[in-house]
This record gives sequence, structure tokens and C-alpha cells, in this order.
Amino acid sequence: MLEELKKEVLEANLELNNRKLVTYTWGNVSGIDRELGLVVIKASGIRYEDMTLEHMVVVDLDGNILEGKYNPSSDTPTHLEIYKKYLNLGGIVHTHSTYATGWAQACRDIPVFGTTHADYFYGSVPCTRVLSEDEIEGNYEKETGKVIIETLITREINPLEVPGITVASHGPFTWGESPKKAVHNAVVLEEIAKMAYLTNSINPNIRQVSKALENKHYSRKHGKDSYYGQKNEVES
Ligand SMILES: [Zn+2]
Repeated sequence: MLEELKKEVLEANLELNNRKLVTYTWGNVSGIDRELGLVVIKASGIRYEDMTLEHMVVVDLDGNILEGKYNPSSDTPTHLEIYKKYLNLGGIVHTHSTYATGWAQACRDIPVFGTTHADYFYGSVPCTRVLSEDEIEGNYEKETGKVIIETLITREINPLEVPGITVASHGPFTWGESPKKAVHNAVVLEEIAKMAYLTNSINPNIRQVSKALENKHYSRKHGKDSYYGQKNEVES
């Protein structure tokens, strides 16, 4: 079942590895079929070099395995919480990519220091609060999803305008309308996290860019008045 989606999710997982965002088996990509309400996610602990379609596991939104002989990624409950809350998302990615994880471990939002950031993320990339002891000892992965949602709601963030977050003391999650777009956003997030780290190191007193520059760059690539690039392109 869901052969097309499985292929998409496999390719997206491999792309994550090709872009050097994963070490060993860290990281995972999922995709959702909204009509059926079913999610395809990579199996837990599989090496990327060995990954094939049979390592793509189909689960429902309650986490029941419907197809696949392997256990799904241990982060599956986090993905499911986000899919259940935000119905316009089609793909989710989690990595421990170095620079984005650096900001997560520092428990700091990634400020908008330049136009590269503003092209993709409308505002700072938020960092969640740390999880409580009860949340960690309870249904940890599900609570991770809930703290992501709590952060987006509290800060009135539209997840399509800010397609990623870092979870405090943990690492980044990104999303998009498809698994491919979610991976694209994971790659961009790592780059802007790196640039922000360098910017802050060179000049610790630097402020965020002006709202005018931020608005200009975001709106020329997104929304009804966008004019950057060619129609229907995915890559920038
Ligand atoms: Zn993780």
C-alpha cells in the first residue's frame, strides 16, 4: 500500500543523508496521505546505506503499524502529534544536524540575521522550552510533539511561514507540504543556523535585520505577490 508515498519518503530520507545532515542512523523523515490518514516513516535504527522501500513503515495516526516488518522510528509519536494538529503539512523531518542542534542545546531561538534566513523563515526559528521531568518520564516522544505545538501556538506562529523549530536540549524538526520540501527546509535550517552562529561570533552585539528587509525577502518568495524564481519551482 501507499507505494508512491513510500518512494517519496525513502528518497527524502536518502537526500537527508546525501546532504550530510545525519550521522549513523540519526534522523528520520515521514510523509502523510491525508485522504487515508496514514503515515509512512522510516524504520528505527536502519543504516542509510542499506535503506530500501521495505524499511518504510505504514502507521495510522494512533501509531498502529499497518504494514512493514520493522518497528517505525522511535520519534513516530512526535511526527503524529504534529500531523494531527496541522492538517496542511505533508512531510516532517527530524535530524541532529550540528549547528541547528547547537542552538537547540544552547536553548536559544535563531535570530533573523540576514536575508538567507528571511527567504525561508518568517521570523526567528523558535526554540521550545525544556521538557519537565514528568514529560520526560511519561510518553516522551508524544510530549516532544506537544511542546512543539505549544510553542507554535503560544507564539502565534503559522507553521508554513516558519517551517521548523528546535527542541531545547535536543535538536531540530522541520516540515513542509511534502517530505521533499521538509528535507529542503532541514537543509536550509542547518545552513542558517551555521550562518547565525558565525554572525554572532564575529559580532556578538549584532541585532536582527530590520522588519522591512525581513518582510521584503519573505514576501518576494512566498504568498500571492511573490516574484522570485520561476513558476512552480521547488528549489531556489
Ligand atoms: Zn532526536
